[in-house]
Amino acid sequence: MTILATLDKIVLASGNPGKIREFQAILAGHPIVPQKRYNVPDVAETGVTFVENAIIKARNAARHCRLPAIADDSGLVVDALHGAPGVISARYAGAGASDRDNLQKLLREMADVPDRQRNARFVCVIVFMRHARDPMPVIAQGAWEGSILRQPAGSNGFGYDPVFWVPDRGCASAELSAEEKNAISHRGQALRQLMAQLDGNDLR
Ligand code: IMP
Repeated sequence: MTILATLDKIVLASGNPGKIREFQAILAGHPIVPQKRYNVPDVAETGVTFVENAIIKARNAARHCRLPAIADDSGLVVDALHGAPGVISARYAGAGASDRDNLQKLLREMADVPDRQRNARFVCVIVFMRHARDPMPVIAQGAWEGSILRQPAGSNGFGYDPVFWVPDRGCASAELSAEEKNAISHRGQALRQLMAQLDGNDLR
């Protein structure tokens, strides 16, 4: 049994409906409550790395709710763009940008990049904090390799899924079902790694 199963509630420090759906599917049966139910105010993601931002978000939610918290910071890392959009994936086209704005900007930036140089990966860091001053948060990460398409395909998922080509499956991420994506994605990998780290550990 993991510590998660012993807790009454764990706040999920995300307001992104796509991410929340994936968390709830993979952590089905665990008492995960999205932070908007507690009116948690947004916090500035000032980190340079995914892990810094995940800690900032988990700590903010844990402090506000006085509950254990889970946060994910994730994004798309494109080799030809020197790692962009990276930690600013959610706001690549500017503050308040929609998924579509971000995706269109990515396609514009990649317009002249030849096929063999379009490698990219989704990365995800997940942090579990028992409380806001937890000195040893549990940290897990996942990476999902693929490449950037020239046009969007598919309508499942969220964010950059329509332009992320999954070579093993021969389709865009947005053409995978939720189950297929969770089985191989960066978030699925990180969540399973988190559960394995928590498994059998009494972290209270
Ligand atoms: P965050 O909420 O600051 O972690 O931003 C994550 C952003 O990265 C999202 O808003 C998406 O643009 C992108 N992203 C992360 N994971 C995925 C995914 O699984 N599919 C598509 N886009 C993703």
